[in-house]
Amino acid sequence: MSSKIVNILSNANFESKKTAKNLTDVLIHNGYKPFNGFNKNAELCVCVGGDGSFIKAVQKNNFPEMPFVGINTGHLGFYQEIKPSEINKFVSDYKNNNYEIQDIKVLRIDVYTKNKVYKFNAINEAVLKASHSKTIHMNIFIDRNHVEKFSGDGILVSTPTGSTAYNFSTGGSIVYPTLHVLQMTPISPVSSSAYRSIESSLIVPGGHTISLVPERRYKDSNLLLVDGYEYFFNNLHRVNVKLSNKNIKKLIFSNNSYWDNIKDKFL
Ligand code: NAP
Ligand code: MN
Repeated sequence: MSSKIVNILSNANFESKKTAKNLTDVLIHNGYKPFNGFNKNAELCVCVGGDGSFIKAVQKNNFPEMPFVGINTGHLGFYQEIKPSEINKFVSDYKNNNYEIQDIKVLRIDVYTKNKVYKFNAINEAVLKASHSKTIHMNIFIDRNHVEKFSGDGILVSTPTGSTAYNFSTGGSIVYPTLHVLQMTPISPVSSSAYRSIESSLIVPGGHTISLVPERRYKDSNLLLVDGYEYFFNNLHRVNVKLSNKNIKKLIFSNNSYWDNIKDKFL
């Protein structure tokens, strides 16, 4: 495990590049081999940027096994724990094993179309919408139980760590990252005498499968968002979402940083 190689995945902002350069120097000074990009033999991946950079590093490199840590040069990072001014302390804490590893829960999304099954993973959320901003009508099942017929802009399923992102803007609850649950949040549910949808979000056990089944006449125009990346589907039969068996490992250096972040970001 201890290859001494440390990946640095930085966005292109001036501040991020400066931070990445400084990190490179401190790593070399401490006997590590910084690698600019993704090397699969690395023992650690450091993302420099905002939460978006963390998500991109995980998505573009297919949810690798090695641990991640983020240095925040964006607004307020939920995935990005380290400040650019703390690089020396971070490298020395890392060297001295002065950290814990937190498992970030990952969604597994199986998309069934007429001829093919597509698989995705997400660390924030999956959203099923109609393309072209139409209303989507779908049946929702949880572990094969029919729960409701939904009409509205879409259905969002978030992980605990994704709960503070799009889910929160949509009226969903904040869920502590270690809880093994999914959250299903409606986006602009239609509520009229013609259509009735549950208006609050539901917290679902992580082992259950949420199944989204668009009504037949809408099956040809669907948009799936996976951590903000767009995928369009024709002939969509069903989208199944549950918590994956695999996790992303993230280093944490302070146990209180989560509640600090909540206060700083939302108040
Ligand atoms: P983006 O459109 O640049 O960023 C969306 C915002 O969400 C950024 O401020 C981002 O922080 C923040 N964010 C991302 N993950 C978060 C988390 N787990 N907790 C709290 N805030 C978080 O897109 P992006 O940076 O590539 O991020 C993709 C995410 O954007 C999607 O997964 C979705 O959750 C979110 N999104 C939100 C809305 C909304 O709130 N209405 C709409 C679409 C997408 P940084 O500035 O640090 O990157
Ligand atoms: Mn962003």
